Amino acid sequence: MFKTRQGNLSVNSENLLPIIKKWLYSEKDIFIRELVSNANDAIAKLRGLAGIGEAEVAEDEVFRIDVFVNRETGELRISDNGIGMTAEEVEKYINQVAFSGAKDFLAQYKDKSADAQILGHFGLGFYSAFMAADLVTIDTLSHRPGAEAVRWVSADSAGYEMGPSDRETRGTTITLHMAEDSREFLEYGKIHSVLLKYFRFLPYEIYLHDAEKPMTEDAPETPINVCEPLWNKKPSECTEEEYKKFYHEVFTDFSDPLLYVHLNIDYPFRLRGILYFPRMKNEMQNMEGEVKLYCNQVFVADNIKEVIPEYLLLLKGCIDCPDLPLNVSRSFLQSDATVQRISAHISKKVSDRLCSLFEKERETYCTDWKDINPFVKFGCLRDEKFYERMKKALIFETIDGEFKTVDEYVDALPAKDAEGDRPAEKRVYYVTDAVQQAAYIDLFREKGIAAVVLSEYIDTYFISFLESKTPGLHFLRIDSDLSDLAGGEGADISAAEELFGALDENVRVRAEALGAEALPAVLLQSETTRRFRDMSRMYGGDPAAFPMEEELVLNSASPVISAVARMAGSEDTRPTAELIAREIRDLARLHQAPLTAEQMKEFTKRTVSIMTKLMEEK
Ligand code: ADP
Repeated sequence: MFKTRQGNLSVNSENLLPIIKKWLYSEKDIFIRELVSNANDAIAKLRGLAGIGEAEVAEDEVFRIDVFVNRETGELRISDNGIGMTAEEVEKYINQVAFSGAKDFLAQYKDKSADAQILGHFGLGFYSAFMAADLVTIDTLSHRPGAEAVRWVSADSAGYEMGPSDRETRGTTITLHMAEDSREFLEYGKIHSVLLKYFRFLPYEIYLHDAEKPMTEDAPETPINVCEPLWNKKPSECTEEEYKKFYHEVFTDFSDPLLYVHLNIDYPFRLRGILYFPRMKNEMQNMEGEVKLYCNQVFVADNIKEVIPEYLLLLKGCIDCPDLPLNVSRSFLQSDATVQRISAHISKKVSDRLCSLFEKERETYCTDWKDINPFVKFGCLRDEKFYERMKKALIFETIDGEFKTVDEYVDALPAKDAEGDRPAEKRVYYVTDAVQQAAYIDLFREKGIAAVVLSEYIDTYFISFLESKTPGLHFLRIDSDLSDLAGGEGADISAAEELFGALDENVRVRAEALGAEALPAVLLQSETTRRFRDMSRMYGGDPAAFPMEEELVLNSASPVISAVARMAGSEDTRPTAELIAREIRDLARLHQAPLTAEQMKEFTKRTVSIMTKLMEEK
């Protein structure tokens, strides 16, 4: 038996601990990830050795990790039946090497601000135990024949004591006596949720024991994890039901996802995972996806945009990629070639899946378009290659509820003749709010002129993007231009034009024959100015910097307007004509956008006075 000995660790860690503690303050639970990962690795190593005949393992051996919490003793214990360590190995791996990760960490991050998410993956390893414990004990027995059990104890991470241990079974137990500020980890609920967060899909079974809740015969032991995540199965062996169940469980979203993409690749890098398109409940919610990144079934972090293209973060899913260089800083990740290839691959798989759905089940694809379109549009804006692949499967929904691809729709549009070196113009009229713009929709329908519905927040950007891609293509909101509707029979209403013109000098007035049944007047807003204002609002600017250009189009085919024109010409009837003109102007405003409080009050007052007049006449 070897003698008890004491020593100092080979790296002076005195300055290290406070710094690491500070860095990882927000992610204190990282020590659990490190210690349970070590237990997992210890089992994997033993199995590896057994596989090549270098270690003896019973045929019916059940590998497992046990976590114990005991509030009375203040101890958290993590135990595995893995490879174990000999005294020499403890000397080599714990005393000398254990802190090298921490040393590198310090060298790189001392003066920089860093993100704890990835930083936690820096391989702080065993040392991180001191983030939460004031006394750490290792009891370990190596798998090697004739090995003696070793106990290692350290109170302050700088010095240690090593001696024999009474451990009788192969494997390692780490006992942490929790520091006062970390006792929360002794609560069953807390430790359970941390274990689930990181190890829900760990390959070996994890059992959690609470000293105050001993196991009973009636409640058989069950591991807290699922050792075979669905993403590890071959896509051809997974059922529709399994995909849905996995989604419901992992994302606690009980609506079914729209579709999924199962990633399964071995070369040139290993990548497994499942990405889901969530069903949209409301626009904001859909914009918050959740992509969990795993490394060999150990959770690393959520939504790492350096690895996964930003637009894919709108999805929900799990990605396991053991080849990611996670022990580097985030800025390095962004420029790493492997990371870029992984990211490109994921994006390609997603667009392939969407295109194949479009080709094989176009009807479903179109019905789902409502939910997937913000995602696809965002992807096109962010990634040229994604756009190139998705181009043929971009959809417009018309005001009549038909679905056409953008190409089909644009090809069928009448083209205005090309002028000089300007390309032929094609106009796509669009609706952003089918209720507010109902009057315009009626006008367009009446004349058989097509329009599409583009009501997403992202459409403002997407419209400009499509225009930049197709020379001559021009998007016009349905309330910005009626020139394609004009050309009907109208009366001479110049007296009405003059009267309306005098109401508001900022609004231009023009006559157009829109049909006898149509509104007496409609208000048009300049497309360009409105877009500037929208953009300015989105970027937090002041839209007032772009004064709105408005035009009031008087319907020269409307009998009401003709009457106003007639009445405007005579002294006697002019006051009534003006009253009616104001009312018509407000109706036009109301059909374009909600009135302001002042306008609304004035409108109501005037309407009441008109009604009173009518009744007085009776
Ligand atoms: P890393 O795991 O990144 O190598 P650690 O500081 O976590 O760094 O651990 C150092 C070494 O200590 C490990 O590589 C391993 O050889 C040994 N070790 C740690 N925990 C265990 C364990 N539970 N069983 C066996 N060996 C272990």
